[in-house]
Amino acid sequence: MKIAVLTSGGDSAGMNAVVRSVVKTGILKGCEMFVVREGYEGLVRGNADGQRVDPVAIHNLEHIIHKPSLIQSDPDKNLLHNLRFGDGDLLKDGTSEWVGGRTLKGRYIVRVGWDDVRGWFAEGGTLIGTARSKAFRTPEGRTAAAHNLIKEGIHALVICGGDGSLTGADIFRSEWPQLVTDLHSQGKITDEQREAHTHLRIVGLVGSIDNDMCMTDMTIGAPTALHRICEAIDNINSTAYSHSRAFVVEVMGRDCGWLALNAGIAGGADFIFIPERPPKKLPWEDEMCAEIHRHREVGKRKTIVIVAEGAHDAELNPIRAEYVKEVLTERLGLDTRVTTLGHTQRGGRPCAGDRILPTLQGVEAVEALLESTPETPSYMIGVHENKIIRAPLMEAVALTKAVGQAVRDKDFDKAMELRGAEFGEALDGFHATSSLYSESAKLPQEQRIRVGIIHMGAPAGGMNAATRAAVRYCLRQGHLPLAVHNGFRGLLDDSVDELTWLGVDAWMARGGSELGTNRALPSIDIGGIASKFQEFNFQAVLIIGGFEAFDALLLLEEGRKHYPAFHVPMAHLPATISNNVPMTEYSLGSDTSLNALVDACDAIKQSASASRDRVFVVETQGGKCGYIAAMGALAVGASIVYTPEDGINLDMLKRDVRFLKTRYALDVPGRSEGRLLIKSEAASSVYTTTFITKMLQEEGGALFDARSASLGHTLQGGIPSPMDRARGVRLSLKCMAFLEQHHAVLQKQPPHKSRHASGSSAAVITIQGSSVTMVPVRDMVEHADMGKRRGKVAWWSGIKELEEELVGRSQFIGLRV
Ligand code: ADP
Repeated sequence: MKIAVLTSGGDSAGMNAVVRSVVKTGILKGCEMFVVREGYEGLVRGNADGQRVDPVAIHNLEHIIHKPSLIQSDPDKNLLHNLRFGDGDLLKDGTSEWVGGRTLKGRYIVRVGWDDVRGWFAEGGTLIGTARSKAFRTPEGRTAAAHNLIKEGIHALVICGGDGSLTGADIFRSEWPQLVTDLHSQGKITDEQREAHTHLRIVGLVGSIDNDMCMTDMTIGAPTALHRICEAIDNINSTAYSHSRAFVVEVMGRDCGWLALNAGIAGGADFIFIPERPPKKLPWEDEMCAEIHRHREVGKRKTIVIVAEGAHDAELNPIRAEYVKEVLTERLGLDTRVTTLGHTQRGGRPCAGDRILPTLQGVEAVEALLESTPETPSYMIGVHENKIIRAPLMEAVALTKAVGQAVRDKDFDKAMELRGAEFGEALDGFHATSSLYSESAKLPQEQRIRVGIIHMGAPAGGMNAATRAAVRYCLRQGHLPLAVHNGFRGLLDDSVDELTWLGVDAWMARGGSELGTNRALPSIDIGGIASKFQEFNFQAVLIIGGFEAFDALLLLEEGRKHYPAFHVPMAHLPATISNNVPMTEYSLGSDTSLNALVDACDAIKQSASASRDRVFVVETQGGKCGYIAAMGALAVGASIVYTPEDGINLDMLKRDVRFLKTRYALDVPGRSEGRLLIKSEAASSVYTTTFITKMLQEEGGALFDARSASLGHTLQGGIPSPMDRARGVRLSLKCMAFLEQHHAVLQKQPPHKSRHASGSSAAVITIQGSSVTMVPVRDMVEHADMGKRRGKVAWWSGIKELEEELVGRSQFIGLRV
């Protein structure tokens, strides 16, 4: 099959990752791959006559055909036939002019090969260009587009763009049979062409920084945009604090408040304005000023208000940042500044999420195309929590449009409902953690509880954000949040104090652990711990940490047999860069860590590429769990990854040396790439990083050189990623709801008897596929490998295989150069 991929509408980070993944997956599945430059406009323009057969492509094929043994060793895979057409560099250099005898001028539908898209996903925006095409909106334009596709023999289109682009795609597909008939009757296509192109297969991927599409949790480019916004807010925070100023930050989002909302949560803002839920009461100025006044009264020195571009009041009158500034200045006397982030939000290097997700979605897109028939609906590829899904494209577009309509109809409840439950939860989360509530909002005295909060294990990004959320929620409800400093050792030393609303204010953006953390388990003195539970009268406990926290919860739960003090609800919120807590696919800190790894590896790869022919052996942390290495390898396109789960043996090393030799032999002479090998520190105690580096130096000969780098503790990351902060808040609030619910159950037991907490009241919050579930800690045990401190099943093992496929490991190993 011949497949073309295009990017359309507003650009977003991650679009290049989509193109790379689609091209590579297509080639692996035996397809011929094309990119369409400049979105639908390129489709309408097509290739000028005489430009269809690319002389450079032939040249490159000849280069390989001159090595017949190579072709023979690649009989059924078409990797070599599609290795390189030489246009990747032109596209990457952003030129359509003649370079070295090559040009893209007059060519919009360009055949691409495996190496043409190499390293693309570290680049922001879209290298193949995007445009808004008026012509494609007309029947004539679409007829020309169909003709151009048929001329190239293309049967299938992958479109990455916003709802407009996806609508256009669906219209194109539904009109296709008619377009083909017209072209045939006009004599523009032959009978054979008509027969061969009865049906157009399409699949959509949502590229949009706003995260505005229904039926998917995340659009491509939204995580990076949120990164840019949070970086800006973090910077603004320090100056706002220094001068005790207020800042009004305007962020993108005409119809969708996702960016403003999540920036509000992750940036610890005081007030936000989003299109879907304008302030309920008019005049809204009173509500905003009252809230900010309360914050200032308790001693807050800085104020951040976030305004989405499309914000308005309940009567749909626009709310502009400049006006908000005037209100704050005049009514509260605050020294207020406006910062409009504008296009900085679109740009920049894609964050880890915008490399991993588009890569996985690109693979799914090609699979969906290959499986599609004239009867199947057009799919849009999306994601629910951690699971890649296919959704009916038109239904998703219709729902998305319905949100805009609901807003225009002032039916804000409907708009919120259409955005999905998670959006509503996030907004509740924002209010719970940003507002100061009066006594009347609190629970009745008898329902208020004393909540102990403990950090355990190594620090991880998002621990503090989750703690801040728990504290603020407690205070809203009337509970008492009690910080246990320095883990269970600290508890034995009476290092417990009350946390305050203002005291945790700046914690959102702080890495590490504000409470202090260590690995000591309750078993150091379980009786002593029980008496401290009693002394401080903990009525509920939240433990934030990694595998040790899980282990600790297990010990406390088992301790209930002997110690009545442990008969209180207890929740564990996984937070560890290793992401090694059983059953959950996500731990706080793992996203921050992946981003730290991506930053480091981008720099290392640049250095490796500058030296032309260098392999860098990069060592990662992660204990006996290879998650960070495998996921990191996918995010940076590493050539080889070694994990503790699979270990390292001589056969593997031999195979991988052979792979690297083949790979470097096939590079254009003088233009070799730097390549990465990522190794978990615990992958092997014999084949160490030093050993592997020396071995590669020896074996690389004239082809390649090797160096090593150990990322060590840098992987804990400095500032937590926005995803870890926002997820920290969400999961923390779910844990709090769980604690409240189980406390209420316990309250029903007669007070004179010692209360008996059920097994289900000590649980770990997990993300499994598309759902968030509290799993009783006892039920976790059978899924845990306690010796190796990880889950028994590495749910991400498929990621490692995919990563190996996307570098063509087994294909290249099979070749004889
Ligand atoms: P986005 O995809 O980001 O929502 P647009 O709405 O501008 O951006 O759409 C991008 C392109 O998709 C348009 O320039 C146009 O070529 C095409 N397109 C959008 N809507 C339609 C439509 N109803 N019919 C045909 N083409 C469309």
